[in-house]
Amino acid sequence: MAASSKVSFFGGVDEIGGNKIIIEDKGTRIVLDFGKSFKARSKFYDWNETPRVANGIGDFIAMGLLPDLGGIYREDMLALAGRSKREDPLAVAFFLSHAHADHLDYVSFLREDLELYMGETTKRIVESLEYERGTRLEFEITGYKRRPLEKGSSRIPRKINTFVTGSKIQIDSIEVEPIHVDHSIPGCYGFVVRTSKNTIVYSGDLRIHGNNPSLTRDFIERAAAEKPDVMICEGTRIDETSLTKEKDVFDVSKYFVERSKRHLVYADYSYKDIDRFTTFYNVAKSTGRALLIHAKVARYLKSLSSGGNPLKLPSLGDENILIYKPREKSGVYHDHDYSKEDREIYEGNQNQVWTAENVKRNPSKVIIALGSYQIDQLVDISPTEGLYLHSSSEPFNEEGELSEEKMKNWLDRFGLQRIHLHCSGHASGRDLNDIVSSIQPRLLIPIHTEHGGLFKLLHGLKVKVPELTKEMEI
Ligand SMILES: [Zn+2]
Ligand SMILES: [Zn+2]
Repeated sequence: MAASSKVSFFGGVDEIGGNKIIIEDKGTRIVLDFGKSFKARSKFYDWNETPRVANGIGDFIAMGLLPDLGGIYREDMLALAGRSKREDPLAVAFFLSHAHADHLDYVSFLREDLELYMGETTKRIVESLEYERGTRLEFEITGYKRRPLEKGSSRIPRKINTFVTGSKIQIDSIEVEPIHVDHSIPGCYGFVVRTSKNTIVYSGDLRIHGNNPSLTRDFIERAAAEKPDVMICEGTRIDETSLTKEKDVFDVSKYFVERSKRHLVYADYSYKDIDRFTTFYNVAKSTGRALLIHAKVARYLKSLSSGGNPLKLPSLGDENILIYKPREKSGVYHDHDYSKEDREIYEGNQNQVWTAENVKRNPSKVIIALGSYQIDQLVDISPTEGLYLHSSSEPFNEEGELSEEKMKNWLDRFGLQRIHLHCSGHASGRDLNDIVSSIQPRLLIPIHTEHGGLFKLLHGLKVKVPELTKEMEI
């Protein structure tokens, strides 16, 4: 009798994110997600500190940020760590569920000849973010520059394949079928994986209380029809029941903005979350204001609007969108203070560009959506009172966010009242119960959670909480 399939977890165990799942069948291995583990990383590094490049992959492995897996890492990073022996890659194909850091970012360390598979929207988001961030060791997805960096060195591209719902990708005896799900960034997928022995479904990150529940419903229906042997399911909020919806964020925001008629309103959310952007755009529109965004957000919207504008985003010329031009080097808005790309945005949307002086004169005309990393613009705008709408959608601190304490000090300094409103990107405990009950897997493996054991209470199904690096026969 042929050996059974195996699954092992190198991240996402007892933590939210950092998913790295290896599935093995007949000697072939594929990997589902290869994310950055915020939990492991924050044990030793602040968000703005990076492990030493001088030791290549060495510091990442020694400090538990990357698993020590053979043959999959970039040669330049291995060489710096004194590990130049060439090995056959442990796995040949990597499937990425969506564009969040905790599922994707550590692809940055993979060899360029391994096959990457991602949704078309994910690729677009990644390209847009890479463009904004420039060369950064922990975010080089579509290609990378050899370390140590040399002036003028060219970028080495990776092999990227894109998929859509219903694509069927065959890697030897393993077949992978992506199916869309709804989450807090566009272009998210779950996977049905068929091996020679069994069928495994993987949820990625999902919810059914967002603006597009039908996407997740499609996944549930498809997964249930498979009568899967195994379901690997995210459990971020298995211990929560709150069902705040995107519409609630809209209603509460609108309520407070309407009552802050003359005042400045500052909205802080992840600009990559298009649902949240749309919510604040609609709040602005319905309260006679415009949403004031950064030039890089304007580019992000533009890149997601191409190809027929599938997300139905407003155009940059829309009267309820304004673009903020901050004071930079010269302090007096000299053209050479700005990148060519920023200048293009300003010049292409001249009637739409506002500076701090415009905001200062007309605080009631805008909702400032510049994120926490640009809170220092308040010095130029100098409000004495106003509203701060805090609305992040991910459970971990994205890079660049201020600590809560520092943010509170900024708000106190400028008299802004904080309102927290939030619709999670993740299904609640009750919804997870419904999802798993509908799919009815023979075995449930919870990941992306610190409370995996709770699934045992909820479902009465066979549940096995995985152990890090330990192979499970399935
Ligand atoms: Zn995640
Ligand atoms: Zn996510």
